[in-house]
This record gives sequence, C-alpha cells and structure tokens, in this order.
Amino acid sequence: MDYDVIIIGAGMAGLAAGIRLAMYDRRVLLLERHYAPGGLNSYYHRHGRPFDVGLHAMTNYVPRGTRRAPLTKLLRQLRIPYEAFRLCPQIGSEIRFPGVTLRFANDFEDFRQSVHETFPSQREGFDRLVERIEEHDELSLDARPIPSRPVLEEFISDPLLIDMLYCPLMYYGSPEENEMEFGQFCIMFKSIFKEGFARPEGGVRTVIDALLARFREEGGELRLRSGVRRILTRKGRAVGVELQKARGVTKLGRRRAEVLAMADEPGEVIEAPVVLSTAGYPETLALIDDRTARSEEAPPGRMSFVESIMVLDAEPRQLGIEQTIVFYNDSDRFDYRRSDDDCDLRSGVICCPNNYAHAKPLPEGLLRVTSIANYDRWAALEKPEPYASAKRRWLERQQEKVASVLGGDFRAHVVADDVFTPTTIHHFTDRIHGAVYGSPRKVRSGRTPVAGLYVCGTDQGFLGIVGAMLSGISIANARVLMAGS
Ligand SMILES: Cc1cc2nc3c(=O)[nH]c(=O)nc-3n(C[C@H](O)[C@H](O)[C@H](O)COP(=O)(O)OP(=O)(O)OC[C@H]3O[C@@H](n4cnc5c(N)ncnc54)[C@H](O)[C@@H]3O)c2cc1C
Repeated sequence: MDYDVIIIGAGMAGLAAGIRLAMYDRRVLLLERHYAPGGLNSYYHRHGRPFDVGLHAMTNYVPRGTRRAPLTKLLRQLRIPYEAFRLCPQIGSEIRFPGVTLRFANDFEDFRQSVHETFPSQREGFDRLVERIEEHDELSLDARPIPSRPVLEEFISDPLLIDMLYCPLMYYGSPEENEMEFGQFCIMFKSIFKEGFARPEGGVRTVIDALLARFREEGGELRLRSGVRRILTRKGRAVGVELQKARGVTKLGRRRAEVLAMADEPGEVIEAPVVLSTAGYPETLALIDDRTARSEEAPPGRMSFVESIMVLDAEPRQLGIEQTIVFYNDSDRFDYRRSDDDCDLRSGVICCPNNYAHAKPLPEGLLRVTSIANYDRWAALEKPEPYASAKRRWLERQQEKVASVLGGDFRAHVVADDVFTPTTIHHFTDRIHGAVYGSPRKVRSGRTPVAGLYVCGTDQGFLGIVGAMLSGISIANARVLMAGS
C-alpha cells in the first residue's frame, strides 16, 4: 500500500484528521481537488484585497486555559498553542425580531439575563432547558437522533422565544428546514451562547496556516488540484482512490488564478487500506466504485446561501454599526427553509468583522450579509448574464435590508463588493445543491457501507470551523488510532 490513510478534502476536518494521524506516524495523504486548502472556509483575493470565503465568527470561543472546552481540547489534541489562532473576542451580538431584541456576547450569564428580562414568563422554563442541554451528551458517536422542537416545547411555551433561539443556531449549523436534531441544537447552543464568537486576527488564513504548518511538521503530505474520481473497493473494503485526470490549465481573471479543468477520465491510482472522506455523505457514496455499496439513503441538503461582502471607506462604528453580528427576522414567524425566490431576505445574518477586539484595527470597514437562497434558481441562470445582473440586484436588496435593520445608511460608503451564490459554493466544494451544512442525515459513527471508508466533517454532524476540526480528530482517533488501523 502507498499510504496508511488517504483523506479526501483539505478543509478544516481533513486538515485536523491529517495532523492527528501524522502525529502517530501514519503515512497520510491529503487530497484536495481545489488549488487552495480550507474548503468552505478558505480565502481568496479580489479587487487587490484578501477576502475570507465564509468567516463570520469562529464559534466555541473560550479564553486561554479554559478546561474541558471543545476549543482547548482540539488545540491540545493537535498540539497547537492557543496563541497560534490569534483569537479576538466579539464585542457583542444581537438577535432582532419585530419589537424584541436579545443581546449576547461571550458571557452566558448576560444572555440568560437578556432572556429573563425580555421573556419574564419563560425564566424558569429557559433555565430548565439550559440544564437539559448541559446534561445531553451530544458528542457520543452512537447517539440516536431526535428532533429538537418537541424538546424545546416541553420547556418554553412562547413560540417567539423558540424562534429567537433557533435563528442563530439554524443559520450557523442546520441542514434541516425548520427543524434541528436535538444533539445538533445542543452543540450549536453551547458553541454560540455558552461559549462564544471570536475572529482570528488576519482572518481564516491564520487558522489554515497554523494547521498546514502542523501537518507538514508531522510529515503529512498534501496534494492540491487532486480531485478523487472514485473510491476503490475490493470485497466490500476500501483499498484506495483513483484521481481525476488533469487535462489542462485555464488561466482566469486578473489574478490569473489557475483552475484545473478536470476531465472525467481515470487518473492515477493510489492505494491505502483506510480512506477518510470530508466530501459529504451523499457525495462520498457517489464516489464509491462498487454500485451495490451505494444503496444507503443519504438525501442531499437543500439549505444554501447568498453571501455578500462589502468594503467600506469608514469604520463601521463611525457609521453607527456597533454590533459584531446581528441575526434578524422581520416576519411573524422565523421560517428557515429553502427560499422560493432566488433569495429570502425576511431573515438573515449581518456580520461586521471590524467589531472584534482586534489588537490592530482592520485596514478597511467590512460588512458581510448572509441570506437564505435557492440553488436550483441560481443554477438555472446563464453565465455571465443574467447571472451577474441577478447578483447585483440581490446585493442592492440586501443593502437596503441591512440599512433598514441597522438604521442609518452605510451605502454611500461602499467602495467594493463581492457576492457569492449557491452555485459558487457548489463549484468550489462539489457539495450537492451548494448545501453548506450538508445532508440532513448525519452519520455520527462515521461509518459507511464500505469497511475502511469513513466520513468526517460536516456530514458526521459537527459543523462550523471548530466542529469540523473536532470531527476530523474524533474520527481519526476512533476509527484509525484506537482501531489500530
Ligand atoms: C458562506 C459561509 C459562511 C460560513 N461561516 C462560518 C462561520 O462564520 N463560522 C464557522 O465556524 N463556520 C462557518 N461556515 C461553515 C464552515 O465553513 C464549515 O462548516 C466547515 O468549514 C466545514 O469543513 P469540512 O472540512 O467539513 O468541509 P469542507 O470545508 O467542505 O471541506 C471539504 C473539502 O473536500 C474537498 N473535496 C470535495 N470533493 C472532493 C474530491 N472528490 N476530491 C478531493 N477533494 C474533494 C472540497 O474541495 C473541500 O475543500 C461557513 C460556510 C459558508 C459557506
């Protein structure tokens, strides 16, 4: 065999799994079809500026030295010092619904107080719900999935409070429409409300560089522009992968970013007895060469988003924008489901990367807006037109919405922007429907119908940057290191 373990995908989960395995002297090969690592949370250059693809906030923030927290646990497992991620805590965030606002920062007692003051009749119920969440072992690899709505309704009788709790948790981690598996709810509740938000100084690149440096230091091997075409099996066991054949190189854009045109032709075969895939569960099943092994049902997710980034010629605080993140909803009920139109602006997320406690202020003002979108509608638009016009039209509507939610008008201060859609997400990660949070069916155990093939990352059920890293670590530990593979 050429390697002990092949990992498909150099996003957060793949990088973390790779470090863990290389630390224990496994010969690891990390294969990434894109020309840069980071996956859904990578970075790129446009208008001469670096942009993060997806970074609003790193969830799970805790101060240095906090015991038994996911962030400190993962740093210890990867032997990365706390300072390496250069985390700057948030200033303060809000959940804004018509006539009601809940505030939270990185101190759970402040949030509890905000809930108590805003919903006095729900005080006791909320506190009991928090106890229930604390008791739940959402990290168990064998946990049975249960829906969260009936559990929440046991404790909270005001649907407005349930909607307000769901809004940030669903936006930052639900592949399901208007529902959330309870274990997933607990993970997101703890990571957002009980722990908190931070931003790495220097953006997501700081985190990616720290992970890459550790991976290389431990002797791991990374191959970019190396898409896996098929996962090879023999008698129901994974035996390696076959790469896509690289046919040619197309130069694109002013920055001459190289995009490989991958032909659907067999390329190099690489052997390993264990394959970890971070490509998503349905996407992984589709790669298996043995058709009988693909029978497992894994519906692709439908939740995708349009994300707009605006560069401002002023500090957002000078324009009256004080919050780090605002999760808003302006209709009667919070309706988290695939949009009927290209986008649904009734709710959304507004993030201001400047509003973290940075050691040095960012060079320019930045605003990011996330709106629920519809992959099929965006995919049906021809490029460059009418796709480009649709992006511009929706950007203008998002700007109008942000101005009305935040009050005041920042629009005259926008000096550059970029918009990406569900088709962009699909293009750069191969996720079916550009589904950011993957399939609603999560595979907690990581197991697939093929022995030696495991999924980790998004479709194991641990979402976000920290969740994906934890998933990579836990599957590497449970399915390779502890299994003696
Ligand atoms: C717009 C947006 C905003 C976000 N904001 C935040 C945020 O603020 N905070 C946060 O914590 N999380 C955020 N996320 C979510 C977070 O980025 C993801 O949950 C996390 O990065 C997922 O990591 P992963 O490793 O599981 O998967 P991915 O990042 O999807 O990595 C999978 C990798 O596999 C590669 N791949 C797929 N198929 C193949 C193949 N056949 N061969 C080789 N390689 C392959 C892909 O190219 C990709 O690099 C955001 C995501 C988006 C899109």
